Amino acid sequence: MIEIIPVCAFTDNFIWLVHDGHYAVAVDVGDAAPLLEQLDALNLTLSAVLCTHHHADHVGGNATLITRCPASVYGPENEKIPARTMPLCGGETLMLPGLQMPCRVLAVPGHTLGHLAYMIETPEETALFCGDTLFAAGCGRIFEGTATMMWQSLSVLMALPEATRIYCGHEYTLSNLRFARVVEPDNAVLVARIAAVQALRDADKPSVPSTLAEERATNPFLRVDVPAVRAAAHAYSGLPCTTAPETFAALRAWKDSFR
Ligand code: ZN
Ligand code: FE
Repeated sequence: MIEIIPVCAFTDNFIWLVHDGHYAVAVDVGDAAPLLEQLDALNLTLSAVLCTHHHADHVGGNATLITRCPASVYGPENEKIPARTMPLCGGETLMLPGLQMPCRVLAVPGHTLGHLAYMIETPEETALFCGDTLFAAGCGRIFEGTATMMWQSLSVLMALPEATRIYCGHEYTLSNLRFARVVEPDNAVLVARIAAVQALRDADKPSVPSTLAEERATNPFLRVDVPAVRAAAHAYSGLPCTTAPETFAALRAWKDSFR
């Protein structure tokens, strides 16, 4: 059996730990200390580190980590990834060492130019590790790419199976949902999700992973084809939100200034 567990780092980062009780693969090790503690506690051997992008809160722990547990470090070839041994550009299917499980690599530029997402199919689930591209109820800021690029990347993720579980890089869900509700106040599924996520957070539980189906139903950035979302983006920005990419760009700019 394969288990996927969150290791919390900093204030709201998730390091994801995929393990079979013996070998482990870690995703986005911003800080080595909490991960090392968890590996010790579960008596796991780290075989690989997957990096989605170069930001320090996702790769800052790599160097320390590999001095303690030598593991292959996978990451975008065109970004500066500490201790990377296996450069990737998207489109590859790699065999995860230790777990001996295939992992699909998807290029999802926008937040950064080399941003990657990793997809695995365990006997239990299809899991997507998408870093800061798709968040629960939101999406990453566009730091290096363009809105069109980010929209294309989200479209790639939207085409995955509905039951895919979305393991993103941050616990940003409640604040994302606050924005989503302003965009789409009449979305009943969204209102129900806010209550469910609030209950989880009140109990100090993570709101991640969600499923792609939930995101399609409540994440405004995946709902730019919905007339109410287009109307809201247009009303706020004054821009012609007649196509999905235009609406996405207006929505992303709106969220950037939303408090
Ligand atoms: Zn980032
Ligand atoms: Fe981040």
